[in-house]
Amino acid sequence: MITSTAFAGKKYAILGLARSGMAVLDALLASGAEVVAWDNQSEVRDSVKDRVAISDLMETDLSDCEAIVVSPGVPLNSHPIVQKAEQDGVPVIGDIELFAQARASLPDHKVVGITGTNGKSTTTALLTHMLESNGKAALMGGNIGLPIMSQEPLPAGGIYVLELSSYQIDLTQSLDCDVAILINISPDHLDRYDSFDHYAASKARLFDMMTSDHTAIISGVDEKSQMVLGLLRQDGRIYDIVDLSAAEGTGQENWPSLQGPHNLQNAIVAASASAALGLNEMQIRDALASFRGLPHRMERVAEANGVLFLNDSKATNPASTGPALGAYSKIHWILGGLAKDDNLDDCTPYFGNVVKAYTIGEAAAMFEELLAPHVAVEPCEMMLTAVQRAAANARSGDVVLLSPACASFDQFKDFEARGKCFTSCVNSVIEKNQIGTANREAM
Ligand code: ADP
Repeated sequence: MITSTAFAGKKYAILGLARSGMAVLDALLASGAEVVAWDNQSEVRDSVKDRVAISDLMETDLSDCEAIVVSPGVPLNSHPIVQKAEQDGVPVIGDIELFAQARASLPDHKVVGITGTNGKSTTTALLTHMLESNGKAALMGGNIGLPIMSQEPLPAGGIYVLELSSYQIDLTQSLDCDVAILINISPDHLDRYDSFDHYAASKARLFDMMTSDHTAIISGVDEKSQMVLGLLRQDGRIYDIVDLSAAEGTGQENWPSLQGPHNLQNAIVAASASAALGLNEMQIRDALASFRGLPHRMERVAEANGVLFLNDSKATNPASTGPALGAYSKIHWILGGLAKDDNLDDCTPYFGNVVKAYTIGEAAAMFEELLAPHVAVEPCEMMLTAVQRAAANARSGDVVLLSPACASFDQFKDFEARGKCFTSCVNSVIEKNQIGTANREAM
């Protein structure tokens, strides 16, 4: 884990003891700090009560604390801890800020910070793969599900690749990235921000924390990314600004796990960061070809009777589903869940690739109405029904794609559970030989 003498002898409060909170707790204790912690769940509190003081932070005087380390799951726009911290005169920080403060104790290293509405995890994993497969010590952490404070420190020359959500950036004040990346910005998480502009401003703060001679990479053609780019240029503080919004890539046919326009964007971004970190074109191209992707992101689940089944359960908004539809022609598209948006505008340009849509979950009725004028739609409600019908209708050369454009919480615990459900439904239709049956009946 990552420890630092900077924390020794100081007192910290921790709010939220999920994965990153627990990692913070371990790291602070191992660094010789004193900790008072709280989590809403009593079992979680009980699991650490022998190691730290447990106290409801809202009822505790925190003025002797160095900082309150808050989980990114805590909504800063509405949670009373923000006011409490102000009252007690203590900063509110997150685990990434703690990492930033620990950097002085680590062997010489670099940090890459990656943010954006969509593509963060893919780009983080891809860049880490590019670095590692070319002999560089690298590790990924942050929003990708690997709390940074629980990672083993890298040897000198190592590169930390951090996936950063806007919530994490909101809780970070001093992370000076050597390379900071903004992939794109589209409306998301608007329950946590006063407006779309505030959400964009939150992402832009990643660049505010950088020193002038480090590299800023921006790739989005969207309005907000371009706005951030314009402001950075106007400001003139950062010398090395890389604008990838018009960049073109070649060779994508050689990268099996990076199909679709969105993955071309991710590839271009990761390649640009790799170049800034000293890799050459050959090294980058080899890594693009050998990258194997992440689960639930355009994941190739199976191929049977010439039909390819893809799990893109991580596509939780229309902006992330659009490019998935752009990656193949002849798609049987399973979508639906808990809608984040009242339109499918980001998907519309790709409707021509859809043979048929199969709706599930709460948003089904809305999507049926939106889709009906453009593509054939079959209301299915449940995942198994959708997979069965899509498989039955599919012909050799077709793709059955789960790319829901929605959150999963109406029917599943999370996007991973939804993706696993899709995979087991696919295995079941393959086992029962239910692929292409509708076509056989029609003959
Ligand atoms: P994040 O970590 O930002 O949520 P992921 O890499 O996990 O991003 O991808 C989430 C979903 O977004 C994927 O299912 C994919 O369909 C889509 N996606 C990936 N990269 C991009 C991109 N650059 N632009 C738009 N959508 C993308």
